[in-house]
Amino acid sequence: MKTKNQEPRTKNNSTSSVLSPKLVIGWLYPELMSTYGDRGNIICLQKRCQWRDIRVDIKLLDLGFDNKQLAKCDMLFMGGAQDQQQKIVSHDFSKEKAKELKKMVEDGIPGLYICGAYQFLGRYYKDADGTIIKGLGILDLYTENPGENYKRLIGDIIAKSNLPFSRIVVSVPIPYRNSIDDVVGFENHGGRTYLGKNVKPLGTVLKGFGNNGEDQTEGAIYKNSFGSYLHGPILPKNPHFADYLIKLALEKKYSPPIDLSPLDDSLERQAHEAIAKRLGISV
Ligand code: GLN
Repeated sequence: MKTKNQEPRTKNNSTSSVLSPKLVIGWLYPELMSTYGDRGNIICLQKRCQWRDIRVDIKLLDLGFDNKQLAKCDMLFMGGAQDQQQKIVSHDFSKEKAKELKKMVEDGIPGLYICGAYQFLGRYYKDADGTIIKGLGILDLYTENPGENYKRLIGDIIAKSNLPFSRIVVSVPIPYRNSIDDVVGFENHGGRTYLGKNVKPLGTVLKGFGNNGEDQTEGAIYKNSFGSYLHGPILPKNPHFADYLIKLALEKKYSPPIDLSPLDDSLERQAHEAIAKRLGISV
């Protein structure tokens, strides 16, 4: 168990090219859209920034939030939810907000959208009782839940990533540099997502269901926006993904290249490898 005084770790702030860097992370619908530990992604991003002297401001964008708040964010996060909460959120997401979010996605503001949030970025989500929840139409995909008589896609999952994690390799301690090609997590969704031509899968499923349990794709990539079905939360067990998001956000806000200092991720790696091992995949 990590004790408080083990923090901060290895503080050689190689983001020194930027004087007191700061990131504003927008957390969309923290109360309604956060299941299976998704809030842990915010804590992970916050800590990995603080351990590198990067100041972090978490902006809670809850029901009725004001568009101007959204526009101030350097990175966005939105977690998963049950069908009921997704309906409430879709009513709160006004045209103005959708327009602002689309502009930020098109402009390359990094964002991580988990499960129900990922579905929401698509054209629509047909939920378990057949109701069509209109999506934001930002990502070229749609999701259909075949209904209660069909099994939910549940369990641990590992996918080979399509993200160029090699770009952040300097921030990965040497012993682990070979194991940053995949991501592990936990999935639990009724919806099956199908990707269109304008988005790339985030990864290829090695074990688990992923987008639809049929085409081995998991998640989606569009510019610097990433959709994924991986809960857990996803980032603590895949610190390379967290660092990739932080690096993208810093380089978007300040001029690249910005390399992050390596952190002692031995515990995160053990957790990552434990899931891979449980799925019979050696990493
Ligand atoms: N309610 C959606 C589904 O079942 C999303 C679930 C989730 O976010 N975990 O597919």
